[in-house]
Amino acid sequence: MWKEINVMLDQSFDEMIATRRYLHQYPELSFQETKTAQFIADTYEKLGIPYQKGVGGNGVVATLKGKKPGKTIALRADFDALPIQDEKNVSYKSMVDGVMHACGHDGHTATLLTTASVLKKFQTELAGTIVFIHQHAEEITPGGAKPMIDSGVLDNVDLVFGMHLWTNTPYGVVQTAEKEFMAGADKFSINIQGKGGHGAIPHQTKDAIVIGSQLITNLQQIVSRRVNPLSTSVLSIGTFHAGNTFNIIADTANITGTVRTFDSTIQTQIMNEMEDIIQGTCLGYNATYTFEYDKGYPPVINHLKEAKHVIDVAKNVDGVKKAEFVEPSMTGEDFSYYLLEKPGAFFFVGAQQQGNFQPHHHPAFDIDERAMLIAAKTFIEIIKSYH
Ligand code: MN
Repeated sequence: MWKEINVMLDQSFDEMIATRRYLHQYPELSFQETKTAQFIADTYEKLGIPYQKGVGGNGVVATLKGKKPGKTIALRADFDALPIQDEKNVSYKSMVDGVMHACGHDGHTATLLTTASVLKKFQTELAGTIVFIHQHAEEITPGGAKPMIDSGVLDNVDLVFGMHLWTNTPYGVVQTAEKEFMAGADKFSINIQGKGGHGAIPHQTKDAIVIGSQLITNLQQIVSRRVNPLSTSVLSIGTFHAGNTFNIIADTANITGTVRTFDSTIQTQIMNEMEDIIQGTCLGYNATYTFEYDKGYPPVINHLKEAKHVIDVAKNVDGVKKAEFVEPSMTGEDFSYYLLEKPGAFFFVGAQQQGNFQPHHHPAFDIDERAMLIAAKTFIEIIKSYH
């Protein structure tokens, strides 16, 4: 059966490309992906696989029950696009002005749909259940993963896997990390309310620039003095705005920045330490403040056993030259939410075009479409290994 599935995937490759290119021509922005969702639903309708639409927003979930008992494995593909003007010169260039599949989510969707269509043909021999999670809105927080999980998509799931076609990685290479794989990326904004006044009469003021400077210096001590040095974290100030002219003491100051972590306990610690330091510093100057901290997606933390499993099985996939563990990427992904609920792993499938490397979110971004076939076959190997 597994050999036949792989042969059938090869035979379906043209169809997979056609699907990907169709989606590439009609991209939709996060939270607005209604036509794409309908396209996915129509595909499952034609395949005769039961599905649900409108799951946690625009999400679509299809469930293929094998005729034999076994594990329930969820596979996830996201399907939103980005506000970027497509600058490629190809027949399948985006038809929508200012919107483009510049992260490869069209390829993720085509991969999962083709995997489903092939598996459907082997339903009687299949042990267990495969849940196909088509997720909207990965690009913008709060993202689609959380509401889909809240709607129960993982309720009966034993294991969850997801992949990203990755142009930083050459074609033929599959990568993941044992645990920390992608970072949690947060942003913050601090407003200090001092008291403005004449530059020559400072004792009647509360200088927001002096308070802000002191605060920035104090914030540097969180990562260097308060967080365990063996855990990775970054706290960077990106902007500091205050004052209007040379002889006026600034009334207010605004400071923004980002925090990157791989551990939610450290994230919470940094958030709390920040609040303490801001409060203490402002109190020392008798100034007031507001502090906004926006949590981005949590870090993507793989489950060790399943991550090792992905590397082991990927080595057997036709076309894979190398399957390896790599250092974490500082980019974010809301696949993290699935891994907070169930054992599983996220992995990269090398999709770099030979001689034409374009990074993700670039106006000329494109993938080596053969990577979709490797991705589908890796999904199949994963299912096989739990059979
Ligand atoms: Mn992406």
